[in-house]
Amino acid sequence: DDFCHRLPKVELHAHLNTSYSMKFLRELARHNGIAEEDFVQDLCLKEAKPLDEGFALFVRLHQIFKTEEAIYRLTCSVIKEFAEDNVKYLELRSTPKMIPETGMTRDLYMQTMVRAVKDCEKEGLDITVRLLVSIDRRHGVEVARIAVDLADKLMQSTQGLVLGVDFSGDPKVGDATDFIPVFLDAAKRGLKLSLHLAEIPLYEETKNVLQACCRSCTMRIGHGTFLHRYDLGKGHEEMEDIVLQWKIPIEACVTSNILSKTVDCPGTHHFHYWHSKQHPVILCTDGKGAFGCSLTDEYSKVAKEFGFGKRDLLAYALSTVDSIFEGDQVKQRLRETMRVFGQKES
Ligand code: 5GP
Repeated sequence: DDFCHRLPKVELHAHLNTSYSMKFLRELARHNGIAEEDFVQDLCLKEAKPLDEGFALFVRLHQIFKTEEAIYRLTCSVIKEFAEDNVKYLELRSTPKMIPETGMTRDLYMQTMVRAVKDCEKEGLDITVRLLVSIDRRHGVEVARIAVDLADKLMQSTQGLVLGVDFSGDPKVGDATDFIPVFLDAAKRGLKLSLHLAEIPLYEETKNVLQACCRSCTMRIGHGTFLHRYDLGKGHEEMEDIVLQWKIPIEACVTSNILSKTVDCPGTHHFHYWHSKQHPVILCTDGKGAFGCSLTDEYSKVAKEFGFGKRDLLAYALSTVDSIFEGDQVKQRLRETMRVFGQKES
């Protein structure tokens, strides 16, 4: 555990609204003059619940984080906590929200996150943070277009601090196929894509999106739980073949998947399947607050389950750098950090 904590890591799949810590929630309650215990109750999934119940929790969270101040404080605390966990590079994602009651606009929401990232940079925290603008599939294609416009505008105005879009939200709502033109448009503008796909067995939309986007988009897959041939059986080989051929990295969130009941236990998690094929698969937290895990926990779990020693872990951490959305300069810097760490440890 201690080695996994010290190990320099990258976190590529973290939703802002589910990445709070209990400590932060308690502080926020005190700050707002609310009884702490009532406030924090049930805000962390301690036992496995169907995916739907997770989504009910997200709605509750959105009632909490709805002012500019709350978003700013949450973003700063999430960045600091990841830095304390020795995450050296973080791609943080969130759905821009319009909340008339607090005067929040989608633009202000993302600008507030940008301000928090810049203030953390000024403080000299040892972590590089980039942002992704989330598209919630429940809100439909028109809102998705607004999110892409916003991401594009911010990519320009922040010189790349915002570097892509995420596609998430309840997979049981709508059809990802409808969003393909939006994804292609985003990629054309230079935005990178992280798409929640095959989180549940949705073969048709997953195949459609992969076929349409694999050639022209820089992309990663969020979860991808029901992607591989082993699970799908005959007739579903196309998806795996595309993923392998285009080396599309998969963001693997072990604890989140177990608590959402889409995977039984660490031993059956698809991480192992892809890793043993030497396909890029990156351990991530998804929501370290909602799922009560740190990135260190995720590394420890996998190390224990699959017998990774220190060398394996270091080699693995190094391999995750290839899948970040930032360019070569940042990649080289991260590799150097890991190399120096490895030397010190040996
Ligand atoms: P936010 O975007 O508000 O910062 O983070 C919460 C939102 O992220 C949720 O409302 C949902 O749209 C998305 N999200 C968080 N976790 C998951 C997940 O495990 N699966 C999917 N599909 N979406 C998620």
